[in-house]
Amino acid sequence: GFAMRLDKFICKSTELSRDQARAAIHAGEIRVNDEIIIEEATQVHENNHITLGGQRLVARPSRYLMMNKPPATLSSNVDGVYPSLFHRLNIERIDDLHIVGRLDADTTGLVLLTDDGRWSFNIIRPQQQCKKVYRVGLRDPLADEVAARFAQGLRLQGESAPTLPAGLEPVGPREVLLTITEGRFHQVKRMFAAVGNRVVSLHREQIGSLKLDVESGQWRHLTFDEIRRLD
Ligand code: URA
Repeated sequence: GFAMRLDKFICKSTELSRDQARAAIHAGEIRVNDEIIIEEATQVHENNHITLGGQRLVARPSRYLMMNKPPATLSSNVDGVYPSLFHRLNIERIDDLHIVGRLDADTTGLVLLTDDGRWSFNIIRPQQQCKKVYRVGLRDPLADEVAARFAQGLRLQGESAPTLPAGLEPVGPREVLLTITEGRFHQVKRMFAAVGNRVVSLHREQIGSLKLDVESGQWRHLTFDEIRRLD
């Protein structure tokens, strides 16, 4: 069951904006278990009975999507130098969604989108050590010692804590599959920079047990089972 702020719940269960939801709360139009609540930050729960003008409100179910991020798109709700990948989503209320673990503009592949902050936080929190698999194209052939150094953990420039053990599987002379369990800033590019190589293409294929299976620029809803397995 969910727990969230009252104003957020109103947004998730009506067509009201956050401002309109707060106005309704302050105007005394919202009851929680038959009591008028005028504090917008009040935490409400799945089993609360919440009404607006006497009508029971029911939260829309959360949404969980995977997308295959095309190159030259931003993992952000707003456009910048490149267009946001959110333009690819032909669904309602895209502003409610956020990306679970951003990719660089030039990186392609698996991104997860949701409006369930608890779910996404659980995936990206460092303690979870959720596996991410990247297909990496390299400028130079892979040197012999790199797999061992990645397995051991290495220092990235400007950081004191070494990287967690990472798995490296060569799939071509200049192509590898890299498995990491963290998500530091530009992590993959910086790991290869630290061993004197350079990433020339980067594509995320997997997060946890979830493998990318839509074409570039396409998206789909996750199944109930996929949502649960990532949790
Ligand atoms: N590591 C990077 O360097 N870039 C990404 O987009 C993802 C992981």
